[in-house]
Amino acid sequence: MKVYKELRLRPGKEASLQRFHPWIFSGAIAYKPEGLTEGETVRVLAADGTFLGVGHFQIGSIAVRILSFHDEPIDAAFYERSLANAYRMRFELKLVRKDNTIFRLVHGEGDFLPGLIIDIYGETAVIQAHSVGIHNDLELVITALKRVLPADIVKHIFYKSEGTLPYKAGIFPENSYLSGGIDVDEIAIENGLRFRIDWLKGQKTGFFVDQRENRALLEHYAQNRHVLNMFCYTGGFSVYALRGGAASVESVDSSAKAVSITDQNVILNFGDEPRHNSCPEDAFKFLKQLPYGEKDLIILDPPAFAKHRGAINNALQGYKKLNLQALEKIAPGGLLFTFSCSQVISAEQFRLAVFSAAAISARKVRILHQLTQPADHPVNIYHPEGEYLKGLVLQVD
Ligand code: SAH
Repeated sequence: MKVYKELRLRPGKEASLQRFHPWIFSGAIAYKPEGLTEGETVRVLAADGTFLGVGHFQIGSIAVRILSFHDEPIDAAFYERSLANAYRMRFELKLVRKDNTIFRLVHGEGDFLPGLIIDIYGETAVIQAHSVGIHNDLELVITALKRVLPADIVKHIFYKSEGTLPYKAGIFPENSYLSGGIDVDEIAIENGLRFRIDWLKGQKTGFFVDQRENRALLEHYAQNRHVLNMFCYTGGFSVYALRGGAASVESVDSSAKAVSITDQNVILNFGDEPRHNSCPEDAFKFLKQLPYGEKDLIILDPPAFAKHRGAINNALQGYKKLNLQALEKIAPGGLLFTFSCSQVISAEQFRLAVFSAAAISARKVRILHQLTQPADHPVNIYHPEGEYLKGLVLQVD
């Protein structure tokens, strides 16, 4: 068995690990060996020498992310057990179907694998490393992935970690196929709807897998409505709204590229669809010139307004302003699907921002649904920080 270097914590700093929280902050460390480099696997000991966990060392305020609370090697067998467990769960969730080939296989801490994201798009797995430790372990992860999802299921493995590793680590791996990569089918299926996924250049791993259930809920309400899909990106909500019988769907995104992806995905499912149109425009500008009452179903799914704690106040102002604009324009009887994917903003804070907007608009507003991320983006109960997606469905009179 590989001998790992050891870190020792200050007295009393073992408490959060004993509650299985997977992060150790740098201030908790009393001793670390000379020459320890970022990404190395380490054994973590309490001040009295008791074993606490094995994890990846990193430089920064989070110093270790724990992979196991057992004294075991982090090898291909470890990753194979973890990935097999993750896959079994997605299978049991009935996400692995002929008419649903898009799902998240590994969701970092939520699957007890901090730093690792794996999304499946049909025959392609897209791997994203958010820590140097995972980047270093890539060969082990790939070996495990090939064993868990053999080549008749996943033919291509694409590594996409440009920009997701800590900048200071100075590692900038090129986005590239690690396996397969010839004759790639870029069309994958979510709940029977077809999407072209651009993992080469698209945001995140190419698609926002986390909105699947919320898109399905929207479909349920779309009949005969005039829908505005703001921040449309790949047009996920637009395509569901069209299948749900919307009278019209307008897709808006400030990125012309996103608008064109949306158009392509609409065509892929419905051909030339007269109910759909799209517009490359800034959301705030678009809502400002939108006539009152034209839309009776509006989706607001902006990018994270706060990426770190220091940005929380500005972000809350941003959510308030955006929601106020939509609340001022939506038709009576309208539905507003409003989201925040900022991890540092709590559900309560988001709801308060929307509440403030509602109060200023002076409309009659009821909360019909409180939404979150789906089960293939699970929240590790010991790591509440993993709960990031928040949504409200409001009925506005
Ligand atoms: N709702 C999408 C995901 C949205 S991602 C889905 O279900 O897949 C956020 C999108 O907001 C990105 O495509 C980005 O280009 C767009 N965006 C960012 N700032 C914007 C702005 N000010 N106005 C309009 N769109 C914006």
